[in-house]
Amino acid sequence: MTVPDDTKLAGQAARTTVPCSLAAKWLAAGFESSPLRQLAQLHAGETPARLQTDRRKSSRGDGNWNQPIELGQLPAKAQRLLHQHRATMEAIELMPEVLRSVGFDPAPANQEFAARCQKALDIVQRDLDATGYDQYQMRAQISEGWPAIVFAALPDGSYWSGGGGMARGEDSPSLLASAADSVSGVLKEIPEIEWPVCAIHGGHPESIWDGEDPVDLLKKVAWWRCTSTGHPLAPVGQLTAETARTR
Ligand SMILES: [Zn+2]
Repeated sequence: MTVPDDTKLAGQAARTTVPCSLAAKWLAAGFESSPLRQLAQLHAGETPARLQTDRRKSSRGDGNWNQPIELGQLPAKAQRLLHQHRATMEAIELMPEVLRSVGFDPAPANQEFAARCQKALDIVQRDLDATGYDQYQMRAQISEGWPAIVFAALPDGSYWSGGGGMARGEDSPSLLASAADSVSGVLKEIPEIEWPVCAIHGGHPESIWDGEDPVDLLKKVAWWRCTSTGHPLAPVGQLTAETARTR
């Protein structure tokens, strides 16, 4: 495996101590749960038994931190940093469970996030309405699990989770682009409609499944693109019968 460089590891290790120190303080303040104790143990450099077994099953994240490595092959400093790096990743994975275990309910935050996504979908809806697809009234559908992702859902509640969806950390232009992409994706995957389609070039000549991505961010503005040639069509929310085909 590739070992991340020292600088990156040291930065991550510094951040690790924050949730773990907090866990120790919460325990001292009288909060009590098994996940909270596990998190506090990470601070002391111990690996909780549950995580030892879970570590190899976990596939979340893009790092290879959970793969076995022969620590004896590394210099002492790198071993220490790698250990801290693993503790960071374990703390990140454990945090949502810890919060739930002491009574934190993420539902209000999720509702607020879904409402923000619905506002983005309402902008995309203008384009559906302008091109004659107003029967598809898009609704924000929040996914199960963590981190929460929101997808565009059809009026019957069906949605397609194969696309990226809308993520909590996205800024407004990026969230609008993701909303547009999710709408285009659900129309393609469920009723099998290519939308939107360039008024001049049409869609991809052979298949709606081929062609360019329908949405792009240009100078921090979400734009529809021609799926046939890739040129910009119009900013999301500003499609007209001149730029896109109507039904
Ligand atoms: Zn075109």
